[in-house]
Order: sequence, then C-alpha cells, then structure tokens
Amino acid sequence: MSPAACIIGWPVEHSRSPFIHNYWLKTSRVAGAYRREAVAPDQLHSFLQSLAARGYVGANLIFPHKEAALAWSEPDDRARAVGAANTLWLDGVLRATNTDVQGFLDNLDACVAGWDDNGGTAVVLGAGGAARAVVYGLLERGMPQVVVINRTPRRAQALQEWFGARVRIAPWDERNRWLSEAKLLVNATKLGMPGQPDLLLDLARLPAYAAVADLVYVPLITPLLRAAMARELRTADGLGMLLRQAVPQFQLWFGKKPEITKEMRSLLEQDLAAPQPPSQE
Ligand code: NAP
Repeated sequence: MSPAACIIGWPVEHSRSPFIHNYWLKTSRVAGAYRREAVAPDQLHSFLQSLAARGYVGANLIFPHKEAALAWSEPDDRARAVGAANTLWLDGVLRATNTDVQGFLDNLDACVAGWDDNGGTAVVLGAGGAARAVVYGLLERGMPQVVVINRTPRRAQALQEWFGARVRIAPWDERNRWLSEAKLLVNATKLGMPGQPDLLLDLARLPAYAAVADLVYVPLITPLLRAAMARELRTADGLGMLLRQAVPQFQLWFGKKPEITKEMRSLLEQDLAAPQPPSQE
C-alpha cells in the first residue's frame, strides 16, 4: 500500500497543506496520498491511536491540537522544547516534531534579511501552538526581548513560565502601546482569517525600521500585511512559512526532499485569490 499522510485540525477546510503535499507527490512521482481529517479536540486521542489502522504513516497537526498531541506521542527534543508539535510520524511508536520553527525562521530570513541584527524587541500576538514555535525561534536566534500579547492572559503566562525571563507579557488591550518598541511584529493569532474578526492595530505606531510577519495565509495579503505595506514596512507572509515548514514533513513521510518552485507558489497564490468559503469558527 502506498504511504498516506493527513492534516488533522478543527476546522481544517481552509488549509492549503493538501495542495502543497499533493503537488509534491505528483511532481516527484511518489505514489502516496495526503488528505484532510477534521478531528474535534475530544476525538484527537482515539484518532491518533487509529492512525496506522487508517493507513497513515504520519500527520500534520494544526489548531487546536499542537500542544495536546504531545501527551499522546514521543516528542523529539525540538517539540519538547517548544511545547508543541506540528508533525507526527509512525516509527514503531508515534513520534512528534515541530517544523514550524524552521519554517518561520527560514521565511523571515528570506523576506526580511537582517531582521535579527542588533537585538531589539519582538512583539508576538497570540499564545497558541504556533506562537510557541515563533517565540522559541526568536529566542533561539538571540532576540533579547519577546513581548507576548494574548487575549487570554493565562496562555501568555504559560509561555512566559515556559520560556523564561526574556519573555514579557502584556494585556491584549495594551497591544498598541507596545508597537512603538517593536522591531518585529508577528501575528500568531487566528485574527484576519476568513470568519474571524480583523486584527485591530494602530500600525502608525511601529518604527519605520520595523518588519511585520503574519502567520495567517488565507487571505494571502491579510489586512495586517496590507497596512504594513502601505507604510512601506518589510513583510513576511504566512504562505512562505507554510511552504517552508512543509519541506521536512514531506521528506519524513515520503522519503524525498521536495522543492519550493516559483510555479508552485504561483499556483497557490491563484488558489488563495479565489473566493474563500467561510471558516467554521
Ligand atoms: P491556536 O493554538 O488555536 O491559537 C489561536 C490563537 O489565536 C490564540 O492565541 C488565541 O487567543 C488567538 N485568537 C483566536 N481568536 C481570537 C480573537 N477573536 N481575538 C484575539 N485572539 C484570538 O492556533 P495556532 O495553531 O497557534 O494557529 C494560530 C494561527 O497561525 C492560525 O491562523 C494558523 O493558521 C496560523 N499558522 C500558520 C502557519 C503557517 O505556516 N503559515 C503555521 C502555524 C499556524 P486565546 O488564547 O485567547 O484563545
């Protein structure tokens, strides 16, 4: 039987990971399949237990499962250190890693070269599974201060306790106040996705040298990125991260290192430009 992998999320319809992995399966002439699996949080454990029986060699995890899945897998050092996993594979046992960190950093390096020169403050909006990977990556690359701002204070506190003194936290209502200090602003919330409210921010407060990264990639140019571009700030979009975090996943599941080509990115851009169905949330 040819290998199959899936993306597990709740909801999962918006994800372009099936487009990416199926494109690579076709162009690399690998016999395999990649499917969407909508799995509610209370079904995650039993779904993971049945992964092999369903014919899967591995899976991609998206919200809200990235943190919960650690309890039901064998995380590698990276996933353990981040406190979240986005990639699972079966190797006798169910193993977990996190490729979001590399995808995020590689994309920033490609789009905003020099973003980590000379220290400074990064402001990260969000404290979910993706924010964990972002904060871990920023600290690993030497950012002296990362300010985490989240709607639910408890989750931001958990990140501060996890990552230590270089992480500061601030209340959601005070997010605009921190912008004047930000060398890098990262949106790691769901805000801006279809069916979600807009991310309301006063971008005029960002310094002229600041860069803005959005993890949201549906739509490709989010209102946040549009506002940053209008100010002529440097930006990194979520699609670039999505493509880069997918490379090691494909290699893990299907045994070949795939390439991110211009043709593929352009096909994805066309797909994202098409009218979007509303999100479930
Ligand atoms: P998650 O664990 O469910 O976390 C969601 C985050 O969004 C939390 O911080 C949550 O705040 C915040 N949020 C949701 N609704 C909100 C609202 N109405 N107002 C303010 N904050 C709100 O999800 P995740 O896995 O971290 O994913 C977060 C985003 O990153 C998603 O858009 C996802 O598509 C994107 N992502 C992109 C990539 C990529 O490769 N481009 C990779 C990973 C994730 P609370 O804690 O208060 O609920």
